Amino acid sequence: MSLLDLVKDAGIIGAGGAGFPTHAKLASKAEYILMNGAECEPLLRVDQQLMILFPDEIIKGFAEAGRLVEAKKAIIGIKGKHKEVVSTLRERISALQLGDYVEVKELADMYPAGDEQVLVYELTGRVVPEAGIPIQVGCVVVNSETALNIYNASLGKAVTEKYITVAGDIPNRLTIKVPVGTPVIDVLKLSGIENFDDYTVIDGGPMMGPVMSSLDGYVTKKNKGFVILKKQHYLIRKKSMKMDQTKRINRASCEQCRMCTDLCPRYLLGHNMQPHKMMRTLNYTLADTEEQKISYLCCQCNLCELFSCPAGLYPKAANQYIKQKLMEQNLRYQPVQKEYSPRKSREHRLLPSKRLVARLGLRDFDKPAPMTEIGLNSEQVSIATSQHVGAPAVPVVSVGDHVQAGQLIGKIPENSLGAAIHASIAGTVVECGNGFVTIRRD
Ligand code: SF4
Ligand code: SF4
Repeated sequence: MSLLDLVKDAGIIGAGGAGFPTHAKLASKAEYILMNGAECEPLLRVDQQLMILFPDEIIKGFAEAGRLVEAKKAIIGIKGKHKEVVSTLRERISALQLGDYVEVKELADMYPAGDEQVLVYELTGRVVPEAGIPIQVGCVVVNSETALNIYNASLGKAVTEKYITVAGDIPNRLTIKVPVGTPVIDVLKLSGIENFDDYTVIDGGPMMGPVMSSLDGYVTKKNKGFVILKKQHYLIRKKSMKMDQTKRINRASCEQCRMCTDLCPRYLLGHNMQPHKMMRTLNYTLADTEEQKISYLCCQCNLCELFSCPAGLYPKAANQYIKQKLMEQNLRYQPVQKEYSPRKSREHRLLPSKRLVARLGLRDFDKPAPMTEIGLNSEQVSIATSQHVGAPAVPVVSVGDHVQAGQLIGKIPENSLGAAIHASIAGTVVECGNGFVTIRRD
C-alpha cells in the first residue's frame, strides 16, 4: 500500500490545531516540505518534548512525507531557544544519513512564529499570497506531531492517541498522551484541581484558544493543550467578552493610532490586513464593502487584542464581525496582487514571546510541563465523527459491537474530504449517533 493510502487509512489530520486531513495535503506536489515545530503559543509544551522523545520517528516520517510530495528540500523550523531539541535533531538527521535532504532552521522566539504563513516566510523567504495557502508558493507544512503520526502510519498504526499539555494556574503542570475520546474533565483533573467552579479553561493556547463554555467535551485529534486559569484572570475576562460588548467598547475608545495594524503579522508580511480600518468602519458605520473585504485576511492570532492595542480594545472582534456580515451577503475578498514582499519595518516589529507572556499575566505559569507516563484509563471514550475539516466520518460499527484499539469505526464518506476514525480503546460500542461513537472499556 502507498504511504498516501496508509496516511489516509490512519485517519491523520493536522495535529497543530487546524485539523486538515493530512492525506489531502500530501496529495500535492511541492518544492519544499516544512515542519512546524515552532509551538509559539505560550505555555504549551507538546512539540518540543516529542522532538526530544521521538527524534528518529519524527525525522523519518517527515522525510517520507517530503519524498511523497516530491519536495527537493525538507526544512524543520524550531525556535533557537530550544537548544537541546535543535542539537538532538541535527545529530539524528546526520546519524540517519538524511543530512543532504533534511535541514533544521532556527526561528526567533517571537509570536506568532508558528503561524503557517509566517513559518513559510521564515524558512523559505517566500510570502504566501493574501487569502492563499502554502502550496501556492511551492510549500507543504506539517506539524511535528503529524510527522510522528505519518511515521506510525507507515507501520500501519492509526491515530488513536493525542498528546496534550495541561498548564496554567495549577499545582501540576504536565504533558500526557491520552486516548482520543477521553472525557476532557478527566484530563483536567490531572492538574491537581478537583473543583473547577473558580476556574475557566482555555481550549488550546492562551492566544488563539477559545474559552470553554462547558467541560463536558471529549479529547479530539486536534487538541493540543488546556490552559486553566482563575475566572478573574485578565486573559479570561478579556476572552470572555461577548461580541455586543466588544462593539460598545470599541466604539467608545478607538483613537485610530494604528498600532493594531503596525504589529499585525499578516500586514507585516505585505498583506493588506489593516484592523484599524475595520475599527473605523464599525465606529463610523461606513458602508464601503470593498474596503471591508480585507477582514478576510485575518488569521485570528489575537495579537492586536491581547498585545498591540494600547487602549485594550477588540480589533480582531471588529474584523470577525465585519467578515461575518460580508459572508452573509456572499461578498468575498479577491487578492489584487500576485506577489508580495514583507514590509521594510517587519524585522523591527516582531513581538518577543517573553514580552507577550508578561503582558498576558502568565509569567508565573510559564514553567515546564513535563511529559508523564500516567495512564489515563477512563471508563468510556466518546470519539467524535467530526474532528477535522470536511465531512463527518460515517460509523461502520453498531451498538453492541466489540472493538479492538486501532480498529476502524468510522470511514470517510464517498467522494468527500474527511478523515477516518478508529477505536482508541478495546471495548464495547454502547452508543453510536449524534456525532459520536462511545466505547465502554473492557
Ligand atoms: S484598535 Fe487600538 S490599536 Fe487599533 S487603532 Fe484603535 S486604539 Fe489604536
Ligand atoms: S488577529 Fe489581529 S493581529 Fe492577528 S491577523 Fe488578525 S488583525 Fe492581524
